[in-house]
Amino acid sequence: MLYHSTRSGANPVDSARAVVQGLAPDGGLYMPEYIPDFDWKKCLRSDAIAMATQILSTLLPDIPQMDRLVQNAYVGKFETEDLTPTVPVGDFTVLELFRGPTSAFKDVALQMLPQLLTKAKDVCGEKEDIMILTATSGDTGKAALEGFKDVPGIRITVFYPDGGVSKVQRAQMVSQEGENVTVCAVRGNFDDAQTGVKNIFAAAVDGKLPAGNRLRLSTANSINIGRLAPQITYYFKAYADLLKRGQIRMGDKVNFCVPTGNFGDILAGWLAKRLGLPVGTLVCASNANNVLTDFIQTGTYDRRRPLHKTESPSMDILVSSNLERLLYFLSEDAELVAGLMKQLNTE
Ligand SMILES: *Cc1c(COP(=O)(O)O)cnc(C)c1O
Repeated sequence: MLYHSTRSGANPVDSARAVVQGLAPDGGLYMPEYIPDFDWKKCLRSDAIAMATQILSTLLPDIPQMDRLVQNAYVGKFETEDLTPTVPVGDFTVLELFRGPTSAFKDVALQMLPQLLTKAKDVCGEKEDIMILTATSGDTGKAALEGFKDVPGIRITVFYPDGGVSKVQRAQMVSQEGENVTVCAVRGNFDDAQTGVKNIFAAAVDGKLPAGNRLRLSTANSINIGRLAPQITYYFKAYADLLKRGQIRMGDKVNFCVPTGNFGDILAGWLAKRLGLPVGTLVCASNANNVLTDFIQTGTYDRRRPLHKTESPSMDILVSSNLERLLYFLSEDAELVAGLMKQLNTE
């Protein structure tokens, strides 16, 4: 299945190549050309591991042996066999995503991504080492470091905003073990760190990196489709739990409220819906950095505002990368998206 950039339909790549590259050469994010048919009812009757296998092999069909990759990623790594339990709390049901090795919900994706990337690298015949560059506002860093530590053929560098992550998160990162890991504090906020990473990618595409630094670069942020896709699974898992407990009937719509930063998690919910899951409303929850709330309510994305440091640093983001994918899905107009992203950057 082919993927192309949100900013241009030209130069599509297969799903393995999209995972290896992370970001499209024009700075856009990779999108599947179409959403394939998916037996979502069968998926709901499966356990969490089989759900992940079905979803990932549908969206990333050029990566073979998906069942084994999923086993490697998850079996024995999470506190509970079902990976992401749900717990009724009053009128709500809470989906517990923190049962993985680093207690970040990102473990669901970042235990999987190294498996996908290593296999995709093989499929693409990529011999050089891959260097993962990742900006983090807190949780991604540790979860990515843990996922990629000592993975052969891959190295990882994590950039975090100095003073912008919690003490625990900083301690988790700077004490990371592994021969292939580097952690780096950046003077600035998360957006500065993320922009810096995007600039390094742009420099690499233009051949402007100094000689000797010509590693293949990729990313573990949710701009990588290999990071985003594994997150779709737990929407199905949550729905299946509600079915099992008799709280809903097959086909009933379920609303999800998703704490949002880079818009990856909530976009995975949107993809779950596109794959057929009966999703009602996706509620995009913000903290004081409510640029997305404003955008959804007014249609204007205005990043010209101070970034507040809050108790939820993973949501302290003004430039929410994956919104670009939603804009593309809704408009199916790469030229429009390219123009809007440029405007956001310069104006
Ligand atoms: C990463 C993270 C978020 C934001 O998720 P996105 O996919 O970036 O929108 C919110 N809360 C916590 C605790 C996180 O770790």
